Amino acid sequence: MEFKNKKISIAGFGKSGRAAAEILLERGCDVLICDEAPASKFGELPESLRGAETEFGGITDRLFEGRDLVIVSPGLSVNSRPIRRAIEGGVKVIGEIEFSYLLAKAPIIGVTGTNGKSTTVSLIHKILSENGVRSILAGNIGNPLSREIADHPETDYITAEISSFQLETIDSFRPRIGMITNITSDHTDRHGGFENYAATKARMFENQTKEDMAILNMDDPACRNISKGIRSRTYWFSMEREVPDGMFAREGGIFAAEGGRSERIADVGDTGLEGRHNLQNSLAAMCAARLVGIGPEAALRSIRSYTPLHHRLERCGSIDGVDFYDDSKGTNPGAVIAAINSFDRPEALIAGGRDKGMDFGEMTSVIAEKVHTLVTIGESGPALAAACRAKGMKRVIECGRDFEAAVKSAYESVRDCGGCVLLSPAGASFDMFKSAEHRGDEFKRIVSMMEKRRGL
Ligand code: ADP
Repeated sequence: MEFKNKKISIAGFGKSGRAAAEILLERGCDVLICDEAPASKFGELPESLRGAETEFGGITDRLFEGRDLVIVSPGLSVNSRPIRRAIEGGVKVIGEIEFSYLLAKAPIIGVTGTNGKSTTVSLIHKILSENGVRSILAGNIGNPLSREIADHPETDYITAEISSFQLETIDSFRPRIGMITNITSDHTDRHGGFENYAATKARMFENQTKEDMAILNMDDPACRNISKGIRSRTYWFSMEREVPDGMFAREGGIFAAEGGRSERIADVGDTGLEGRHNLQNSLAAMCAARLVGIGPEAALRSIRSYTPLHHRLERCGSIDGVDFYDDSKGTNPGAVIAAINSFDRPEALIAGGRDKGMDFGEMTSVIAEKVHTLVTIGESGPALAAACRAKGMKRVIECGRDFEAAVKSAYESVRDCGGCVLLSPAGASFDMFKSAEHRGDEFKRIVSMMEKRRGL
């Protein structure tokens, strides 16, 4: 799309809105930046944004009146009043992903899903980069996608992590390879129910044609359902069954399948990653790599030297044989179940936080059945404790907002049985912390303090 001389508004002056404004100014557009927050929040605009008009302290109809396009930031819902007004006003409204797609010259590998997006895109990017294929990595991790694309026009592939919120505002976005890692309950408050949430994720494939490729999780009913409505060539990954095209794990082996024939290429233990779900992420990444022309053996070599991202089942300490795992990014039931299933020893689970309207039914059953001791924190703590007790769980300790007491109680509960302590909260962090990272860092700080005291 030609942007020059276009009148474009940016709704929401966060990281991605700022990047879009800069790029559009570089391309000779007339840019208006709007945000609900007062100008004092943003201070003086940097040199790169001189030339943009601004409207801070409330978004009025100026956002769309006389404009050619509105670019809405992921933090602003399409259902918010200013955005609804702009759509009703007949102006085209797009989000960051559509904007990035319009800028992109290289094909996009787009990854969405409830869990495993960051891990899977990081794995894909590592495999590509280490095997002679230029890739840029962007999305929720790191820089805004549009900035990365504008700065690296010479790349071979764009590996992008894409959330369901971002898919709400696409129009012509068409990834060469689109992937859904899994779909389980999360963000149902904003999407208005699971069906809508799954339908939004399915938009990944909306504009794909027979030239494009879709990668889906065969073990996930919502993914199987979505596959019925897509036009692109479909590839699968599975931990449970053989797939016609793609990657699967069975009887301790990793298999590559093509046209209904499969070949064992490695042992399951060869990825070196902790947790069954990370094997799943590895299969998904190997599948994408294969579609780019990188064989599973080469992909596996890159996976073996992958270091897990912070706050995703990250081992962060050990006291007298009790290991501590920071899984602060486990903010929904699917991630917590995956974390619980990663260990064979008695687990003390620290969970609780801000509820996002999620379905806790299956998760509380898994907790009651498999977890040694549940330690609850935060806003959803009491409800979580009650639900697990109702399912017959006896060892439940409620710690309210006292995070330090929670970590200590968790440790003491499994100290004598060679267990582990797992922080995997099943909730957002904002009831007690600034972010999931802050929650994980606090956990690590407390663990390290306990380690030091123990050493005295
Ligand atoms: P996302 O970017 O989708 O949030 P991450 O890779 O950052 O995914 O991981 C977020 C949380 O989900 C972590 O708790 C992690 O352990 C868990 N997780 C990662 N991959 C999977 C998976 N395939 N299935 C279930 N949970 C997963």
